[in-house]
Amino acid sequence: MIRNSFSDDTEALCYLVEGRDYALLIDSILGMGNLKAFCETQTDKPVILANTHAHSDHFGGNFFFDSCYMPHRNIGFFQNSINGVKKQQLIEMAKERARDEYRDLIQPDEIFTDWFPMKVYPLYDGDVFELGDRKIEVIEVGGHTAGSVVLIDPLTRITYSSNSCNGNTLLEFPNSLPIISYMRALLHLKENQNN
Ligand SMILES: [Zn+2]
Repeated sequence: MIRNSFSDDTEALCYLVEGRDYALLIDSILGMGNLKAFCETQTDKPVILANTHAHSDHFGGNFFFDSCYMPHRNIGFFQNSINGVKKQQLIEMAKERARDEYRDLIQPDEIFTDWFPMKVYPLYDGDVFELGDRKIEVIEVGGHTAGSVVLIDPLTRITYSSNSCNGNTLLEFPNSLPIISYMRALLHLKENQNN
C-alpha cells in the first residue's frame, strides 16, 4: 500500500501487487511525487498501471507512466479531465495541502509533471492481469462512476475495492449511476465472492 504522507486533508491510497513477471500498480493517487520512480525502488518487475476509475485522486500519478488501463466507460471522462492541467497548478495545490513541515520542500522539479493525453487501454468486466505466478481479476462495479472496477486477487483473497465499494461510496458525481444500477452492480460483485 502506498499513501501520500505530506498532506492531512486528502486520503489517497494505491497498491503495488508484485508477481513473478510483472507488478500491477492499482491507481496512482494525486500526482504529487514521482510514483514511477518510487515503484522502481520497491520492485524490479515491469510495472503495469491500472486505474479503478477516472477521478483525479486515483489517476494523478498516471503521467509518470507511458500508458494505463482504465475502465472503458471512464476513458472519455479521463481524457476530458486532464486537458490543460499544468505542473504549476499541481505544485500550488500541493503547497496548499501540505503539512507545515513539508511545504518548503515542494519545488518545481521532476517530482511534478504536466497532465497530458496518454495511451489508454480499455478495461472490461472479466479481464485478467496475468502477473506470472498470480493473476488479478477485474469486476465492473458501476455506481461511483459508470465504469468503476474492483480488482480481486484470488491467491490472497484480497479485494481492491477502491471507491467502487466501501463504507462511504459516493454516488453524487456527474458520471455516477443511479442507486438501482449500483445495487445491480453489487449483486454482480457478490456472484464473484467465492473468488
Ligand atoms: Zn472517486
